[in-house]
Amino acid sequence: MQAIIEVRDLKTVFDTNVVHNGLNLTINEGEIYGLLGPSGCGKSTLLREMVMLQKFEGGDIKIFGKSLKRMSHKESQALCRRWGVLFQAGALFTSLNLYDNIALPLKEYTDLSENMIQDIVKFKLDIVGLKQDDAFLYPSQISGGMKKKASLARALSMDPKLLFLDEPTSGLDPISAREFDRLILKLRSLLGLSIVMVSHDLRSIYDTLDRLAVIDNKKIVYEGTLDMIHQEKSEFIQTFFKAAHE
Ligand code: ADP
Ligand code: MG
Repeated sequence: MQAIIEVRDLKTVFDTNVVHNGLNLTINEGEIYGLLGPSGCGKSTLLREMVMLQKFEGGDIKIFGKSLKRMSHKESQALCRRWGVLFQAGALFTSLNLYDNIALPLKEYTDLSENMIQDIVKFKLDIVGLKQDDAFLYPSQISGGMKKKASLARALSMDPKLLFLDEPTSGLDPISAREFDRLILKLRSLLGLSIVMVSHDLRSIYDTLDRLAVIDNKKIVYEGTLDMIHQEKSEFIQTFFKAAHE
């Protein structure tokens, strides 16, 4: 198995607030890997560090075998195009319709013709389960579930092999949430994606994750499959997974 992300001895500090200290994890190519832990334990911060939106204090993060420390601006720009990101605050531009939202990265980072871009946007709408006519709608005109799909289509616009999702099913009704889970599984096999996902949606965790890491008290208290997790002594794990075994 090939590692796609390696986090070693990571330390993260905001002023006097030590968020991660000695945090280690390994994410393999092709897996759907979950990040869990109590609120404020640093899950979103870790994702932001992985996608270079946030600096870390110590240790290292390697993605596609490349260390995020000591990287030129050019290298980091090239690397950023190899992953897609769907963060909590959906991040669709409200002044743009779905077509322009999805086309935006292609216009910004490529020299593709408008015709090519049109074909790519059509394909992305299709793979996330949106209709071609939806392209003309604005974010304010669509449901939460559709917004997630459209954000996902945009995250996939540059054909990334790696996808980061921060609590993708939060705020969705149960039916849309399960639909989103199925979509993630479908896209993983269709596009050969590796996916890193922060979640506290128990159903989503059991239905989609291959492996997971639990962060508590600044480091990883569990890394592995879900099979053994309820044997763990960590208080967070005991409480969180209790519902799944009742
Ligand atoms: P989680 O996603 O696990 O709920 P976060 O990663 O959002 O947690 O936050 C982890 C900790 O880092 C919290 O204590 C939060 O207040 C702090 N934090 C996050 N981002 C910043 C920032 N930009 N500046 C200062 N503190 C921050
Ligand atoms: Mg968070």
